[in-house]
Amino acid sequence: MQKIAQTVVILGTGGTIAGTAKDAADNVGYTAAQIGVAQLLAAVPALAGQALEAEQVSQIDSKDMGFVIWRALALCVSQHLARPEVAGVVVTHGTDTLEETAYFLQRVLAPHKPVVLTAAMRPATALLADGPQNLLDAVVVARSQGASGVVAVLAGEVHSALDVRKTHTYRLAAFGSGDAGAIAQVEQGRLRRHRSWPQSEALGVDRLPEDVAAWPRVEIVTSHAGSGAGIVTALRRIGVQGIVAACTGNGTLHHELEAALLEAQAAGLRIVRSSRCLGGAVIASAGQALPSAGALTPVQARIEMILALLEAGPR
Ligand code: ASP
Repeated sequence: MQKIAQTVVILGTGGTIAGTAKDAADNVGYTAAQIGVAQLLAAVPALAGQALEAEQVSQIDSKDMGFVIWRALALCVSQHLARPEVAGVVVTHGTDTLEETAYFLQRVLAPHKPVVLTAAMRPATALLADGPQNLLDAVVVARSQGASGVVAVLAGEVHSALDVRKTHTYRLAAFGSGDAGAIAQVEQGRLRRHRSWPQSEALGVDRLPEDVAAWPRVEIVTSHAGSGAGIVTALRRIGVQGIVAACTGNGTLHHELEAALLEAQAAGLRIVRSSRCLGGAVIASAGQALPSAGALTPVQARIEMILALLEAGPR
């Protein structure tokens, strides 16, 4: 009889979940990324005695996330997932860029086992810290039969990497899945599932350059009252390969910014239109010269463009 994989590997990257404050009543004035992942596990008595392994991949505030750690994390996750005894991987992360790392890992690995990102809105030293429960729930999801793909588990909800976004600056339930809704709820260690696990194509971890300078440079430009061409001119001067426009409404742009983006596109840069609205897709209509990013958020569209440029290879 085939043994069921039970081991869950917990990879620490930092964030508020590993943060400390001088005063237990201070939920915002803390320093992120202070406590090691082994110590985070030790703070959850219910995890004692379980088949868990802990590894520290980085120790940062996730606002500072970048390509070096993304690549190291993707490699580390894929190596652990290849081990037959590993049921899934949990990544402890900061909330600020969690949705970007989740989307990136899904589109690079599209794993057949669960990869669960979790985080906390309050530091580990808070009177009512949310990290321990989130970690416990994340381990449940990582060991769930049939689970697959990259998900985020916070405040008792399981969100797909393809939909998750941070929606609030300080509430404990600070994440949502927009129009799609959560995949599942974690209720007392059990999953109540509403829809299917994330599925996508995978770029493959081998395609990620070791040299940060070799990663394509793609920036996001927001259209707003008074937008102009200057930002696009500046970005072209520093050699960006693509620009994601975070447009108003259904993909509309200030006419001066639009003219500059059309010119950049004609000069060979990749341009897409996403929306700065919290929900909905950019529905394209016939004859529009700048392509729509569909339902991708600006940060997702940027990752898509980076991966597409990597796939296309050096210019
Ligand atoms: N700045 C922190 C981080 O993203 C915020 C958090 O984790 O909630 O690492």
